[in-house]
Amino acid sequence: MAQVQRMSRLMVKTLRDDPADAETLNHKLLVRAGYVRRTAAGIWTWLPLGKKVYENIARVVREEMDAIGGQEVLLPALLPKEPYEASGRYEEYGDLLFRLKDRKGADYLLGPTHEEIFTQVVKDQCSSYKDLPVILYQIQTKYRDEARPRAGVLRGREFQMKDSYSFDTTDEGLAESYALHRGAYQRIFERLGLDYRIVSAVAGAMGGSKSEEFLAPAPAGEDTFVDCPACDYAANTEAVTFALAPVDGSAHGPVEELDTPDTPTIETLAEHLGVPASATLKNLLVKVDGEIVAVGVPGDREVDLGKLGEHLAPAEVELVTAEDFEGREDLVRGYVGPQGLEKVRYIADPRVAPGTAWITGANKQDKHAKNVVCGRDFEVDDYLDVVVVEEGDPCPSCGTGLKLDRAIEIGHIFQLGRKYADTFQLDVLGQQGKPVRVTMGSYGIGVSRAVAALAEQTADDKGLCWPKEVAPADVHVVAAGKALQTELALDVAEKLGAAGARVLVDDRAGVSPGVKFTDAELIGVPQILVAGRRSAEGVVELKDRRTGEREELTVEEAITRLT
Ligand code: ATP
Ligand code: MG
Ligand code: MG
Ligand code: MG
Repeated sequence: MAQVQRMSRLMVKTLRDDPADAETLNHKLLVRAGYVRRTAAGIWTWLPLGKKVYENIARVVREEMDAIGGQEVLLPALLPKEPYEASGRYEEYGDLLFRLKDRKGADYLLGPTHEEIFTQVVKDQCSSYKDLPVILYQIQTKYRDEARPRAGVLRGREFQMKDSYSFDTTDEGLAESYALHRGAYQRIFERLGLDYRIVSAVAGAMGGSKSEEFLAPAPAGEDTFVDCPACDYAANTEAVTFALAPVDGSAHGPVEELDTPDTPTIETLAEHLGVPASATLKNLLVKVDGEIVAVGVPGDREVDLGKLGEHLAPAEVELVTAEDFEGREDLVRGYVGPQGLEKVRYIADPRVAPGTAWITGANKQDKHAKNVVCGRDFEVDDYLDVVVVEEGDPCPSCGTGLKLDRAIEIGHIFQLGRKYADTFQLDVLGQQGKPVRVTMGSYGIGVSRAVAALAEQTADDKGLCWPKEVAPADVHVVAAGKALQTELALDVAEKLGAAGARVLVDDRAGVSPGVKFTDAELIGVPQILVAGRRSAEGVVELKDRRTGEREELTVEEAITRLT
């Protein structure tokens, strides 16, 4: 028997006015309808109604993750700093990380995402190729000291994420795990009733789609994306391509080995290469023993090349073309910023001719790009420019003028490859008895954010308006009158509950029918059943919250209809 929740015993205080600090629809409505309560900036308490919606979303996520073979685990949120130091993210995360010390002075952090810890878990638990592939997931509280916590639970500093991680021995295996997640995410968002688009988050110039974001169109969203009105093309507007190609399209052959003095500078490099520093060193590629260790664009005379220097003695320095980057998706990872793909996204810019790509000039802070060692001292925002696709630009797949829309990032899937496996030397014994390095994917859904995204997409001028699967109840029964109506409402509620419906029944004494109707619409349960005028005859009114359509039915008819 499903639950019957009496409003008279439910902790819910609805508000007539929007909270003063609320700018977005979801923030206003979730607070006014008594779903959440602000505890501090970006830190939220889930009240009973909100917790129900949250749990409904979490249940759908769990079911679909289990269906692809995911195993649920729960890792701690309080983490030692060492694993994050090993990966470099303790530094890279900067101010985003909540850092703390224990009583002995040891450093800890509150987990912003858990690649490091999952890698260690699998290193500990899996030793043979027979133990893989494995998909692990958790639904857990994450901490990020966001610069602008806003829009209620949309961007929290404490928030709930479903994060999963796949571990495979082969690239094909990783592609398969990625595809499984992609499918699961599609089913999850469809079941939740979210309108969403999948956009590539990796530059097409690098070949292949290794990372995609799931965006829910909504005015409150912080992502802008382009959407083709004629076909299914959708992409981030902040298009960044980053393979290095000479602007004039010419390819330069390998330059002889560079035997550098202590610390090379842009000038010594340029002199050695016999090119003017500003013009041609844009296309610098550093190889050590044939391995690309750095790519760079000089221009900023303050650039500290000290770190790069280690790799330049002796190093081969080449000027390169975009083709040199073909198939080098591993370099992409080096470009991923401290917060994943937070500020810069990679997609194929429709205006980039096939086979060409470039690093554009200055970055957001108007500094020029720095030389970097991929995955070590890389600062994406100091490096790459953002190419903005404009409204009306031709769709790359069908030529129709593109539209610009705002969206909320609700999910993000990512082929990580071996970055973390390398850091933690995660190997398993392969079929041939030799150790094989594991390749990983990581996949996130903002579970608490999905509550906000759904509220944004489904609310109307009367209030929240949940899709059935996530609503805090299936039916909201309203006793619109005195004892007779209350008696009938409770009776119908019991019967509906016994037949399996989740019921909220407004049996509050001393609250006018008008207030009850307003609250019911604000709370947003999909079906509202009113015991009113014709209660004596056993006739109730059924109202569809979304369409507003009303119908008078006998109690029996209503129960058949609603269960
Ligand atoms: P954003 O671009 O909005 O900052 P992100 O790219 O930093 O998000 P990821 O690291 O990709 O986020 O995390 C996976 C998912 O977690 C995101 O797709 C989003 O749904 C959710 N998420 C990330 N940050 C927050 C936050 N501060 N509050 C609520 N949900 C979040
Ligand atoms: Mg993002
Ligand atoms: Mg972020
Ligand atoms: Mg992301």
